Amino acid sequence: MKAHDGLYIDGAWRAAESQDVIEVVNPVDEQVVGRVPAGGALDVDTAVRAARAALPAWAATPPAERAARLGGLRDVLAARQDEIAETVTAELGSPPKFSQTVHAGLPIAVAGSYAELAATHVFKEQVGNSTVLHEPVGVVGAITPWNYPLHQIVAKVAPALAAGCTVVLKPAEDTPLTAQLFAEAVHEAGLPAGVFNLVTGLGPIAGQALAEHPGVDLVSFTGSTAVGRQIGAVAGAAVKKVALELGGKSANVILPGADLAKAVNVGVANVMANSGQTCSAWTRMLVHTDQYDEAVELAAAAAARYGDRIGPVVSAKQQARVRGYIEKGIAEGARVVAGGPESPCEQGYFVSPTVFADVTPEMTIAQEEIFGPVLSVLRYEDEEDALRIANGTVYGLAGAVWAGDEADAVAFARRMETGQVDINGGRFNPRAPFGGYKQSGVGRELGAAGLAEYLQTKSLQF
Ligand code: NAD
Repeated sequence: MKAHDGLYIDGAWRAAESQDVIEVVNPVDEQVVGRVPAGGALDVDTAVRAARAALPAWAATPPAERAARLGGLRDVLAARQDEIAETVTAELGSPPKFSQTVHAGLPIAVAGSYAELAATHVFKEQVGNSTVLHEPVGVVGAITPWNYPLHQIVAKVAPALAAGCTVVLKPAEDTPLTAQLFAEAVHEAGLPAGVFNLVTGLGPIAGQALAEHPGVDLVSFTGSTAVGRQIGAVAGAAVKKVALELGGKSANVILPGADLAKAVNVGVANVMANSGQTCSAWTRMLVHTDQYDEAVELAAAAAARYGDRIGPVVSAKQQARVRGYIEKGIAEGARVVAGGPESPCEQGYFVSPTVFADVTPEMTIAQEEIFGPVLSVLRYEDEEDALRIANGTVYGLAGAVWAGDEADAVAFARRMETGQVDINGGRFNPRAPFGGYKQSGVGRELGAAGLAEYLQTKSLQF
């Protein structure tokens, strides 16, 4: 795997001040696939200064021109789709087909959507006797996780650049090679020096330095709720803008009258995708008590069919964490009907696709984000009970409702405290706003709402 031994700052790869190095490990065979610098506070400072210096010119660049540059970036990503997929597979361990279609395909679509939005968005409007200008917020500090390495980057950087902001990115330490590839693409697309900068490094060092830096106007973070809370506090103290995409514990609500087999099979596939490392995964399946046993049987069979077709989780740490949750589920009285805590392979960070039955709403596995291939199936008595269970966690990121009558599903979805709901298996839409109610986050990504996060308004009165 190709790895740069420098940081991408002000349009060039340069040696880091810090001598520390991150080893990138392939989760399938546990071999080191690359080494990248672990930047420190000095490196972050250099990158933020470069982003600040580049800001006035980029903010003043006409939106149509910014749109053209983003279109160019989208085209470079598309031309390098195979390389992106191979890189994600090497550092995340995801199966090649999934890397190709989702890990590489989705960010290409998102970059394309922001090329279009930059061209069509109304950056200046007349409201009565006022001219309202939608101006870039400034320098963005972007901190991203490893679960969708490129998507998480593009979902922040593309709208930020479309808005006229400049960016310093601190990607996850587990997946920095994909971030380096993205920096190469930015360079190849001819974006001006300093508009995008990359500092690879550790969260509590480089990530924290970026969140705290006084030259950063907005911190956009995706990751765990624990770190999100810290970043919110740091940003709050400095009165910086902040966008947080945090965890989830989404409910897949199957109402009586739905196509049960389809709802269960799609629900299991949703949880197992990316080895369960999806913040919006429907990790709780809610089934009416009369259909519960049938649903559990279907879910167990569906999970068993996955066998070894899912990839590993990202790291030994994550594998231990997921196993810990499975053991906790058993200890609290839930019943394993597929998978379990034993590792299915000697080598690699694999976890068996696992399904729990007899899960009650207060159990840890029904409340906390596991971030592994683990599904909890819960029973409900009636719709009010289903709603209470669905809304009964601190999270509110996504969800699903299945019903015989679409209008019933929509009526139920409207009462869910969550940012996104798929109706009868609706497809993911990269242009629809994505983000959390409650402790799942602050702000939205994707589409026009995602662009708005990076803009602030100025009113001129006449
Ligand atoms: P994390 O929150 O620790 O890391 C996310 C990003 O934040 C990484 O780039 C990391 O380096 C950085 N970071 C860590 N500590 C920091 C700090 N003090 N200051 C600034 N930046 C910091 O998440 P993780 O360890 O990668 O995963 C742990 C859990 O987070 C997962 O098991 C899962 O529950 C959740 N998670 C959620 C999402 C999501 O999309 N919502 C994505 C990944 C992980």
